[in-house]
Amino acid sequence: MAEAGDMITFLGTAGARVMVANQILASGGLWFSLGGTELLVDPGPGTLVQAAKRKLKARKLEGIILSHRHLDHSADANVMIEAMTEGGMRRKGALFAPADALDDDPVVLHYLRPYLERIEVLTEGGSYELGGISFRTPVRHRHPVETYGLVFDSGRHTIACLVDTRYFDALCDHYKADVLVLNVVRLEPGGLFDHLSAPEAGQIIKALQPKVAILSHFGMTMWRARPWEVAKGLADQTGTRVIAARDGMRFDLAELG
Ligand SMILES: [Zn+2]
Repeated sequence: MAEAGDMITFLGTAGARVMVANQILASGGLWFSLGGTELLVDPGPGTLVQAAKRKLKARKLEGIILSHRHLDHSADANVMIEAMTEGGMRRKGALFAPADALDDDPVVLHYLRPYLERIEVLTEGGSYELGGISFRTPVRHRHPVETYGLVFDSGRHTIACLVDTRYFDALCDHYKADVLVLNVVRLEPGGLFDHLSAPEAGQIIKALQPKVAILSHFGMTMWRARPWEVAKGLADQTGTRVIAARDGMRFDLAELG
């Protein structure tokens, strides 16, 4: 049998209010198959539907990670826990989330928690194991709720997910990886909300020099500017391969060599 490869499936590429509320793009988060371990990150609204559409079986999941409690990252957490554990018939899997997603006003229902084998609280500088992979949450992001980006190591590849945050310089120190996925909500810096813009993403890509950078989690200004054109501009500017994720896109890490 062929060895299981490393794959990322984008179950959604929408970021922030308007894109998610109108489902201009899907908002299903990221599904990782890493060294034979199936893992879901940030199950926003519609994740179950998007996974089924892509023939990804929730009962094969071994873990679910919430980078933070905002609904575009967590709305389908409960339904995915139920699906992963076959309605609690099969106690299994791990959930990872910041404390504020689990404590007051939790986004994970209490009655589902015993269905899981374990719940681990994400903290700054934490490192975690799941199946054959490990991951770290190197730095707390600047975002209105407790938020952590992720750096995965599958043994063959490293993948960083730089999730929602306002720009700060330490981002350029903590997310070195073969593949860098960036949540780029805004076309231009500024605005009311703590999110990255395209020029800030360019600055980070230039500093980190991944083999490939993948832009996702687009707000309206990015969508209007056509993410694939923004990606081309950033590729020219940084000398790095930059692509814009599309709903349903599967990125096979074998192509990195
Ligand atoms: Zn957020």
